[in-house]
Amino acid sequence: MSRYDPDCIFCKIAAGHIPATLVYKNEHVAAFHDLNPVAPVHVLIIPLEHIPSLSHLSADDTEIAANILLAARIVAEKTGVLDSGYRVVFNNGPDSLQSVGHIHAHLIGGKTMGWPPFAGREVLHGQD
Ligand code: AMP
Ligand code: ZN
Repeated sequence: MSRYDPDCIFCKIAAGHIPATLVYKNEHVAAFHDLNPVAPVHVLIIPLEHIPSLSHLSADDTEIAANILLAARIVAEKTGVLDSGYRVVFNNGPDSLQSVGHIHAHLIGGKTMGWPPFAGREVLHGQD
């Protein structure tokens, strides 16, 4: 039974109920341009089924998880960053600032990036 959350914006994109600019789609995943890109290339790769975060993946989702990662190379090739390089980021939970509760890999490229990826004031748990 496929998982679908009627209140989830990425479920609606996966089902084609709201528009997105698709880069790639197969039976497990869809990849589309981020609405607010942070780099010249910024594509989101999502499972078609609703899984809220990486923390909700189980062994039953192995094929889905593999397809998310395998789609990264395909998206990188299609967007022209396969050789220049790219970053794949999964925000997961509050500290990471995950804002959409449906697994998505950000594939970001087309510019040189910094590391580590912290911006703004750093707050460590248990310290002010
Ligand atoms: P995160 O903060 O890691 O949960 O990332 C959510 C991402 O989804 C953000 O980069 C948003 O710009 C992006 N986003 C939200 N709604 C849409 C949409 N309808 N189409 C494309 N990207 C979206
Ligand atoms: Zn969803």
